[in-house]
Amino acid sequence: MRIVTTVAEMQSVCRELRMRGSVLGFVPTMGALHEGHLSLVRRARSECDAVVASIFVNPLQFAPGEDLARYPRTFGEDCKLLEAERVDVLFAPEVVEMYPNGSVTTVVVSEVGDRLDGASRPGHFAGVATVVAKLFHVVGPTRAYFGQKDAAQLAVLRQMVRDLNFDVELVGCAIVRDTDGLALSSRNKFLSAIERKQALVLYRTLLRLEQMITEGERQSITLLRAGMEALNAEAGIRVDYLAIVDATTLLPVTSVETGTLVAVAAYVGSTRLIDNFLVA
Ligand code: AMP
Repeated sequence: MRIVTTVAEMQSVCRELRMRGSVLGFVPTMGALHEGHLSLVRRARSECDAVVASIFVNPLQFAPGEDLARYPRTFGEDCKLLEAERVDVLFAPEVVEMYPNGSVTTVVVSEVGDRLDGASRPGHFAGVATVVAKLFHVVGPTRAYFGQKDAAQLAVLRQMVRDLNFDVELVGCAIVRDTDGLALSSRNKFLSAIERKQALVLYRTLLRLEQMITEGERQSITLLRAGMEALNAEAGIRVDYLAIVDATTLLPVTSVETGTLVAVAAYVGSTRLIDNFLVA
């Protein structure tokens, strides 16, 4: 696996790959890799000729007071995992390489970018859209792989790709969970043993709502009430949002249908976790 740290070298390596006619698969990450990330890499490996990954903890998507400074960094271990998955090129730039002094241009995805996590974390999706736009310009991927775990992020990036005519196909990949159901996240490392148990209420709540929907309940108001009750039964967490929304616009819907997004965000101690499912 070739490790590249500069934009200029990365652009030249990827240009070379494209000139050879390779279908380029790209998996952007912030590192601290787990099976969720690796599932994206495996999907890319199975569908593309060359696989490019990136590790970059993007300061632009963290607000002051969020967990940028303590975000887990496990670069050596990450490299071994990516190498084992036969990643061809890893892009791992420093912050000054991505944001040299004097850079002032950002990508703001209005409306959809202000909903769900965008409402709770103002500016977050502008940070995400900006770094992903830059990474797309550096890599020039044919396909880029993102987790359905960050469903709002995926909706924002799909809007950006449409609006700015990026010539890339976004591939959404299923959520990978621990054996007990907790969605894998780099931030799970922050949880104490007690918090780890408390965090399970997110998945439990989603399962309950999924079951109600399977049994015929369609009204968002009824589902939200039941969901909040399930979440509030766990004293150790603080709910940020529970939402039933259109998966493309992230606007609330009054009744669910196939493809509707049911999403939750909550603080367990000081750790913010998210989870969701798409109605079958
Ligand atoms: P991150 O490093 O948190 O920015 O995540 C990088 C990519 O991995 C994003 O597209 C995430 O949606 C995806 N991802 C993170 N956790 C999971 C998971 N449990 N299952 C599937 N994809 C995930």
